[in-house]
Amino acid sequence: MNSFIVMQGDTYHEEKEAGVIWSPKEDRGGQVPHSWKRLKEVRQGDPIFHYVKGDIVAVSIAKVDCSEEMQPSTLWNQTESKQGYLVKLEYQELDVPVNVKEKFQEISPLLPLKYSPFQNDASGNPGYLYPCNEALTIKLLELISESNFYRVNEEQLELTVDEVRRTDRNTLVPVITETESEAKTKMRWGKLKFRNEVAPLWEEQCALCAINLPELLKASHSKPWKDCSNDERLDPYNGLLLCRNHAGLYEEGLIAFDGQGRLHISSIMQEKDYEIYGLVERAKISIHQENKVYFKWHKRKIFRK
Ligand SMILES: [Zn+2]
Repeated sequence: MNSFIVMQGDTYHEEKEAGVIWSPKEDRGGQVPHSWKRLKEVRQGDPIFHYVKGDIVAVSIAKVDCSEEMQPSTLWNQTESKQGYLVKLEYQELDVPVNVKEKFQEISPLLPLKYSPFQNDASGNPGYLYPCNEALTIKLLELISESNFYRVNEEQLELTVDEVRRTDRNTLVPVITETESEAKTKMRWGKLKFRNEVAPLWEEQCALCAINLPELLKASHSKPWKDCSNDERLDPYNGLLLCRNHAGLYEEGLIAFDGQGRLHISSIMQEKDYEIYGLVERAKISIHQENKVYFKWHKRKIFRK
């Protein structure tokens, strides 16, 4: 299962009526934007969040895999029919939309650096279909549940729930719970597999301080899960086995390694404290050739010089 966020704006109502999302294959200049091409990745059962003018307004599940289809005749005023990508969906509209700006503090740490659906000011990016990693999926489902289910429950207490709403809720609840459990399972399974494959590459001990108590060791991603492609996510060379303290420093960008495996320490850390944390500037660890590309990415994007 892979999740997505679709940015719909004015096209939302027509696409919802038709029960689809659709994009042309290429723009007028013959270019193929990544957010159009991404429709091809949608498979039956994949969840999609619908973003319209500041809010997540609906969730849907793909009924079938994406297929190449002409633009459906019910969509928009068209002067010529175009070839494109189509996904048929079961739309579940939310009673209470989730406002992205209001919840941006919770959402923003989970956004990838590349192909993020939202800009730094919480406004939507102009493309069409964006990837939605598992952590972001779980967060969005949580926000949807908070604003939709609790409200309905309160209303139930006042005995004001009408039949229509009850039916809506009955179809939304399984979509939310099943999607959440699949996303959690995928993450848990992925992290376990990752750890099992990373640990032997570092002789089952912290690469920096040699602590070898399994309970204190963690397989850190150099390129974080949210920023990875599916392959990078489980690539053991994207991992580094560290004790919990050093893993914390690494993941927060307070230390980094260069292509030679030399340690770099952030200027945020005070030199007088290096010893407490067991850090020696430019200390060299022995790395694998395949780690280099990930170390460099981490040093460029995560390290806080
Ligand atoms: Zn350590």
